[in-house]
Amino acid sequence: MGFLEPTKICKPGVFLLTKAVISDKDMGNLVEPERIVPWMEKIAVYPGFFDPITNGHVDIILRGLRLFDKILVAVLKNPKKEALFSTKDRVAMIQEIFIRQPDIEVKAFDGLLVEFVRRHKAKIVIRGLRAVSDFEYELQMALMNRQLDPEIETLYMMPSVHYSFLNSGVVKEVFSLGGSVTGLVPEIVEKKLREKLKQGRLSVGK
Ligand code: ADP
Repeated sequence: MGFLEPTKICKPGVFLLTKAVISDKDMGNLVEPERIVPWMEKIAVYPGFFDPITNGHVDIILRGLRLFDKILVAVLKNPKKEALFSTKDRVAMIQEIFIRQPDIEVKAFDGLLVEFVRRHKAKIVIRGLRAVSDFEYELQMALMNRQLDPEIETLYMMPSVHYSFLNSGVVKEVFSLGGSVTGLVPEIVEKKLREKLKQGRLSVGK
């Protein structure tokens, strides 16, 4: 057979590809049949630093919900870089943004991402790709995670073009210099940035 054919329904909305398709000459070397992950999993984990969450992150979460029943946003606890917002604040802001969205859950995590993913019975990690500059780091991370757990797949999505230049660092820098970030971050984030600025906690480079 020369095409992918969803032949076996495992559970509602989830198809498994048959061995016959995988043993196709063109496909044979790509994946072992037993390693095939159903194309649509219930939960996807979206890990990141989110210091703070931007509309680019929100865009990726909402795109994720088109494919998955639930998105678990995993907020990295103790990365090497210093955070402007505490882990608790970063989690709370995301929870508030999606307060009316029961299919979006937010949790803090540290340690190995693959362990967090396994613990939550997920098999898919989603990440955003903005520009070619993201690619090398993301490739490294995806391949390392695959090495650690071949059952877990990483799926990349492009944000809307409006957010493809956006990252948390740029938001903090622009805001600290008096620039407007309206439309680039959710309202709650703008409010929290204003508070940090008043407290003198927001300076360039943070
Ligand atoms: P950053 O500090 O670059 O925003 P994060 O760790 O918070 O990094 O990002 C988590 C994930 O979200 C990464 O996959 C990152 O590429 C992605 N991401 C960050 N900003 C955007 C954006 N504006 N559009 C799409 N994806 C994004």
